Amino acid sequence: MDQKVIAGVGNVYRAEVLFRHRIDPYRAGRDITPAEWDAIWTDLVALMREGVRTNRIDTVRPEHTPEAMGRPPRVDDHGGEVYVYRRALLPCHVCGGEIRTADLAARNLFWCPTCQDT
Ligand SMILES: [Zn+2]
Repeated sequence: MDQKVIAGVGNVYRAEVLFRHRIDPYRAGRDITPAEWDAIWTDLVALMREGVRTNRIDTVRPEHTPEAMGRPPRVDDHGGEVYVYRRALLPCHVCGGEIRTADLAARNLFWCPTCQDT
C-alpha cells in the first residue's frame, strides 16, 4: 500500500475501500491491476459522494448495516458504519473473524485477514 498512490483519500476510506475489494493492505500499489484500480476508484467516488450528502462516513453494504444484521450501531467519534476502521479486535461483519491493526509507514492499518486475501 504505497501512500503516494492513494494520497488524500483519508485513513477511513482507504481502509474501507481495500476491505470492500478484498485487497490485503500489505499488497504493493504497483501490484494492483488496472481493472482493480478502476473498480476501487469508482467505489471510492460513490462512497465519498454519499459521505458528503449524509455528512457521515458509511462504507458498509446494505446487508451489513446494523438494521440488516440485528447488531447495535457503531459508537465512534467519526460516526457511520464501517467494516474495519478503528474496529481492531472486533468481529468482522462478513466472516466473524477478528479485525487486525498494525502500523505501516506511520499510519494505522485496519483489515480482516480472512476477507482481505487478494
Ligand atoms: Zn472478514
